[in-house]
Amino acid sequence: MQLDLDRARREPFHWQETREVPAAALERPELERLSEIDWQGRVTFTDPGFYLTGRLAYRQRLICTRCLKSFTEPVESGVELLLLVEERHRPRRSGEDAGEGVELEEEDLGVVILHDDRFDTDPVLLEQLQLNIPMKPLCRPGCRGLCPVCGADRNAGGCSCSERTTDPRWQDLSGLKERLTRREAEVGLATEKAATNEATLNEATLNEAALNEAVANEGETPQAAAKTHDVDAD
Ligand SMILES: [Zn+2]
Ligand SMILES: [Zn+2]
Repeated sequence: MQLDLDRARREPFHWQETREVPAAALERPELERLSEIDWQGRVTFTDPGFYLTGRLAYRQRLICTRCLKSFTEPVESGVELLLLVEERHRPRRSGEDAGEGVELEEEDLGVVILHDDRFDTDPVLLEQLQLNIPMKPLCRPGCRGLCPVCGADRNAGGCSCSERTTDPRWQDLSGLKERLTRREAEVGLATEKAATNEATLNEATLNEAALNEAVANEGETPQAAAKTHDVDAD
């Protein structure tokens, strides 16, 4: 929509339009469809420039990057811009025609330099639509995606291969775990052997300790007594 900013020099004005933008215009394969877009805003003269606030409201249909299902979500976003108009009566360079007067030159975020008092809101609208498409659309925060083996939708329930499949990112770690377990077993075995030898040597001491323990356990709860009995039976 073309806005005649000069109007705002007298008093702030409000603009509103309903737009239809084909999803293909945004060149994002994850965007399937856009509903009608309610696009409105307000322009205030803030000598030397104009302050523009705009709001969009619409619905967009996206494809979930994990499960590849379509889903629709409501979108609302806003934009604020400071529009500065270049000095008037500037001599036109060769090859420049009146049509170029509405082109934007964005110097800074949120600041737009205009050649005259006309402002086309379409580039701002398209930029907002683009920004409102998530980098990785998800149908729900915890979408479980598709099984990489059989392609089953994991949100609908597990498939038989899901438990056996190992995420390749864990393979290095599981190798490390295997090595650690093996080493642990070796160390454990060595410790056990040493302990056996020691036990033989200290059998007398151990027997004495067991006797002391049995004496100490006398008069305890039946459960503890039963446990002691089991140990004795061994
Ligand atoms: Zn999903
Ligand atoms: Zn599967």
